Amino acid sequence: MQIIITAVDFIYNWGRSNSLWPLTYAPACCGIEMISASAATFDISRFGSEVFRATPRQADLMITAGTITHKMAPALIRLYEQMPEPKYVIAMGACTITGGMFENDSYSVVRGVDRLVPVDVYLPGCPPRPEALLDAIIKLQKQIKTETILDRQKYLEAHKPRVMLSDDENCEVVLPNSEFEVIHWGVQKVGYDTEALVAK
Ligand code: SF4
Repeated sequence: MQIIITAVDFIYNWGRSNSLWPLTYAPACCGIEMISASAATFDISRFGSEVFRATPRQADLMITAGTITHKMAPALIRLYEQMPEPKYVIAMGACTITGGMFENDSYSVVRGVDRLVPVDVYLPGCPPRPEALLDAIIKLQKQIKTETILDRQKYLEAHKPRVMLSDDENCEVVLPNSEFEVIHWGVQKVGYDTEALVAK
């Protein structure tokens, strides 16, 4: 039985890891590097990831290439939820990993996209070069090749969004998912000097 599962895992993982289709999603300047990676010089198609999809329903890789703002967060979660399983996230750039240069004094930037969705590979830099993105994709491919269908349930649990949207389509408020840590939404007061904003 184990021989059959190992063979199925090998073929399944080989197919998935060599055809990661990224979502066309570039919220800020890191996106330029992501676009460069798909141009002739760097040629992301060597790794089977040149098919940037315009719809999340055909994508299994989200590259969060840039600053994520609170206003954009609900759209990001909506897109992530619409991607079919199995799906992966590469957090590209300092802004998306920690808030970057906006970490201390911005009222609008999310301090880390992993507060919203689970991240598989962190790619630091400002901005990371296209080669670094290719390296992140190779790391993700290696990670996918270690997966097994026996751990499918565990995988699905680990890849749920960290927060969930309200059922009301017009509502932009993100509600805490009761299965995960409750996240304070809105202006983040931690590391943020509200007094400095008062007009002098
Ligand atoms: S990490 Fe640098 S290049 Fe990337 S979005 Fe932030 S400021 Fe722009």
